[in-house]
Parts: sequence; structure tokens; C-alpha cells
Amino acid sequence: PLVLGIETSCDETGVGLVRGQTLLADAVASSVEEHARFGGVVPEVASRAHLEAMVPTLERACETAGVRLHDVDAIAVTNGPGLAGALLVGVAAAKALALGLGKPLYGVNHLASHVAVDQLEHGALPEPCIAMLVSGGHSSLLRVSDVTGANDGVVPLGATIDDAAGEAFDKVARVLGLPFPGGPHIDRAAREGTITIDFPRGLTSRRDLERHRFDFSFSGLKTAVARWVEARQATGEPVPVVDVAASFQEAVCDVLVRKALDAAASEGIEDLLIGGGVAANSRLRAMAEERATGLGIRVRVPRPGLCTDNGAMVAALGSEMVRRGRIPSSLDLPADSSLSVTDVLAG
Ligand code: ATP
Ligand code: MG
Ligand code: FE
Repeated sequence: PLVLGIETSCDETGVGLVRGQTLLADAVASSVEEHARFGGVVPEVASRAHLEAMVPTLERACETAGVRLHDVDAIAVTNGPGLAGALLVGVAAAKALALGLGKPLYGVNHLASHVAVDQLEHGALPEPCIAMLVSGGHSSLLRVSDVTGANDGVVPLGATIDDAAGEAFDKVARVLGLPFPGGPHIDRAAREGTITIDFPRGLTSRRDLERHRFDFSFSGLKTAVARWVEARQATGEPVPVVDVAASFQEAVCDVLVRKALDAAASEGIEDLLIGGGVAANSRLRAMAEERATGLGIRVRVPRPGLCTDNGAMVAALGSEMVRRGRIPSSLDLPADSSLSVTDVLAG
């Protein structure tokens, strides 16, 4: 079946078209530039940008795929979690399409779709697998036996107890005077730098591991970086931005990879899938690959363009919903800004 996916949970307006597990089009319009001067996403600005970008992005996706809207067999849309007003724009557009075309509507969980998207690049998802979701708003380790959420198919093993990994990248970038969103800038700066500072690895002490084996904490790390930079500035010495970036990035990636591989070992699972915006990080990808090989664990990470928010990921999970015979959503489907990662099957 040909599935159209719509994503508007944050600042990317995404429309994807997928046939089975084949990606036909992935059109994305971003309002990130409009938010940059505020140092974070401004919800009202994002909603307005979605309204303006929705129709042109839909048209661009259809044009790229060489299909007409009438060819579409099902409409999938992110109905949470995310910014309430932003989600509403996508959900309203999807309902209008479903109603107008007489095709089924599928509400899709944004977090699960960060996992499902990998099938567009590497084929059928390995289930069960350990999925590490690392994005701007979330950092979780999941045991995924059914990405559509059926039969408790998504089980959380751990999550961040404070900041998300992407949030840490963005905050540290700010401390270093790098633009928003900071993740890609830190990634780039770190490549020019050397790991010279031993920043703290949150929740890895023996005592913390007893209660938080698969949980993350990045707020102490963020503070440690800020203190280090302030101390430097106080003495009037220049801040070695590239070295701080490399050292910070190493600390984040070290903890993420360590805990993900530990989760795989503890669950007896040989496939690790990494998704979400931070999965675009070059050091994280290399380190996961490097450390997993010796342990006999296979690592799958979608290409960077599919890690950050897009419509193809929504179409990918929608396509699995159709293929696995899940019941479509009703046309009253609500946008749920705080939808939980375990809540994948929409009513
Ligand atoms: P969520 O998925 O939790 O709702 P979101 O949709 O805003 O949040 P994503 O678009 O999945 O998040 O990811 C955005 C985050 O990814 C930002 O914090 C950004 O800095 C980070 N990011 C993007 N590229 C990289 C990179 N190369 N290295 C590190 N972080 C990155
Ligand atoms: Mg974004
Ligand atoms: Fe996301």
C-alpha cells in the first residue's frame, strides 16, 4: 500500500510517501531559522510555519514520488508527543485528507516512528531489538518486540531523569557560543578538537547503577561544562571550544553506548537500533559500531537525514500499521502533546 505520512510535532513540517518499506519521497520544510534567534523553538511561530508549509510540502512530496493524492491508500500522522498547537496542524490536515479521499487515518506515535524509520534504509526491523531513542526531548532505552505497540510491544527499560541528550547538546552549544540547534555544530567542532577534559558520566557509579542501570542524566554534565568554561573565562584565558566540544560529546556518547550495550546484553538481544536527532551524531555512530562489534551485537542507525524529524518516519510506521492489520484511528483522533512512548496503538 501507498502510505502518506505527516509530521508537525516540532519545527519540521514533513510529508513522506512510502510504498511498503520503500521510501518514495521525503519532503521537509523547517522553521528552525525563525527560532534560532530565540535560542529555542517558539511554539506559536512553529504552528504558523506549519500552516504555511503544509500544502506546498504535500505537493512537493507527491511531485517527487510521481503520485497523485488519489493514489494514496492510507494517511498516517504524528498525533503526539510534541507541541500541542504544532501537532494540531498536522492532525487537522491528515483528517481533511482522510475524509476527502475516503482513506483510513492512522495516528502515529512520534517516538516509535523515530525507531520504525530505519526499515526504509535497512529493511524489516529486527524484532525484538533494543532501541535507543535520543532526541531533543527524549532519551530512552526501549525493548521493542512490535513497533506498532501491539501486545506491549514497546517496553521502556530506562530514560533520562533530567535533560534529554539533544537538550544537553543544545545547552552546551549555547555555553560555547555556537548557534541553535547546537547538536550539529558541536559534532562539527568536535571533529577539529581533542578530548582533553574528563567530564562526568552521569549515573554510572556503582551505587547509581543499582537504581538507574538503564537511566540517563545529563544535567550534571551540562553544569560541569558551564563551570569549566566560566573558570576559564574568569582567568581571561581563551576557551578551547573545539576541545570542550570533543570532550563533552565523548562523555555523552560514552554513557549512551555503554548503557545501550548493557541493555542488549541484559535482555539477551543482539540488535541495537538507534534513532532520534542525536543519532545523527558522527561520534555516537562510530562509537556504537566500534564497541558493539566485539560483543556480537549488530547496530542499525538510519542515515542522518532520517534521524531528525521528517514525514517519512511517520509513513514508515503507518505502513507497518497497515501491513500488520492494526485498526485505523477514528476521525476524532486527538493530538496528545504528552503521549507516552508505550502508547503506540492509537484508538
Ligand atoms: P523529540 O523527538 O524528543 O520530540 P525533537 O523532535 O525536537 O524531539 P529531533 O528532531 O528528533 O528532536 O532531534 C533534534 C535534536 O537532535 C536537537 O537537540 C539537535 O541538537 C540534535 N541533533 C541533531 N543533529 C545532531 C548531531 N549531529 N549531533 C548531536 N545532536 C544532534
Ligand atoms: Mg527540529
Ligand atoms: Fe523527534
